[in-house]
Amino acid sequence: MTNEISALQSEKLTALLHYLKTSSSYYQRIFLEKGIDIETIKTVEDLTKIPFTTKDDLALYNDDFLCVSKSEISDFVTTSGTLSDPVAFYLTDKDVERLANNEAEAFKCANGSKNDIYQLMTTIDRRFMAGLAYWMGARKMGAGMIRVGPGAPFLQWESIQRFSPTVLIAIPSFIPRLIDYALENNIDFKSSSVQSILCIGEPIRNPDFTFNELGKRITSQWDVKLYSTYASTEMGAAFTECTEGKGGHLNPDLLILEVVDEEGNIVGESEMGEVVVTTLGVEGMPLLRYKTGDLCNVYYEPCACGRMSTRLGPVVGRKQQMIKFKGTTIFPPALFDVLDMVPEIDLYQVVVSKNEFGNDEISILLPMNLETPIFKEKLHSLFKSRLRVTPLLSFITAQELNHRIFKQEKRKPEKLIYI
Ligand SMILES: [Zn+2]
Repeated sequence: MTNEISALQSEKLTALLHYLKTSSSYYQRIFLEKGIDIETIKTVEDLTKIPFTTKDDLALYNDDFLCVSKSEISDFVTTSGTLSDPVAFYLTDKDVERLANNEAEAFKCANGSKNDIYQLMTTIDRRFMAGLAYWMGARKMGAGMIRVGPGAPFLQWESIQRFSPTVLIAIPSFIPRLIDYALENNIDFKSSSVQSILCIGEPIRNPDFTFNELGKRITSQWDVKLYSTYASTEMGAAFTECTEGKGGHLNPDLLILEVVDEEGNIVGESEMGEVVVTTLGVEGMPLLRYKTGDLCNVYYEPCACGRMSTRLGPVVGRKQQMIKFKGTTIFPPALFDVLDMVPEIDLYQVVVSKNEFGNDEISILLPMNLETPIFKEKLHSLFKSRLRVTPLLSFITAQELNHRIFKQEKRKPEKLIYI
């Protein structure tokens, strides 16, 4: 990071600390309890004098984080809450504008321009922040958008043929289903208007930036450029890949990023650690040193694209999602990666549970039509060679599996559940 960027961040940090001291009942209490004099925190390096804010703090003291009265709130959203109850998040009009700026910058980073037409394949309502951000970002940049929403392959293709979008915004595991639908219905997807896909919510790369199985599955069938973007409600900002595809770029105007080890120390170039963010310019619910639980490799060296900002590699796993299985530590994305390698599998759900001894058990739910000795043997040996363990395989009807994965009350397909 350049001196110019750190000077700008330090200035924004000072403003944030004064704002929290006057407006945040949560941080007022922390400053008092920990004896923190905010005047001694002048630079980003001084941040270590302040304790981390955890997901538990946010859940436990949710409304104490709010810095304005509720009459000032424009948009009421909730976090995704994959592992716990969703937490409330409040955005003022200024925060909504910040989100629009963030997304416009993210689109530009992924080679977008006002000449692009985006097709949105995620939900825009359901208290979901990102869907709204995409729409506003495209508008800010002067581009167009077709809001199709999730699922509905017929409507997706009909919209592509009708409006000729150049970019799809989608959860990447939906794309193989979209391709299958095109193949089954003789849709000439290879000569469609689509040039690139902005992939949200799931990684498409390995930590060395090569495509993972999902990324390979998409690009081997369809000549499109994939861009990954990583974001969360709490950050209100995104890390988006440039054309180099070497990690998502930090927007230093909007976030201070720290990537830390178990002891809370900053990790070095290309090392893996937990992503910690301090939000800049947020009015409703600003966060100081918020521990996201996401584990990524970090790259401080300038990117070949010319940007100097820090980059994050794909999310290797979530800290709370670490599975200890038969003496091996596994993160769910590694299981998804194996399942995505098998062309016959287009639907699956990973079920993690505890056995009577308190150890983790993993079973994979698959459609019944795949239940043959040959298939089971193939999958077992694939898991054995890739992860050194073999989870339990259970076969249920495709209808039941569909029902379990695509729940009406959920914003995203449930590829992973804990029971
Ligand atoms: Zn770059």
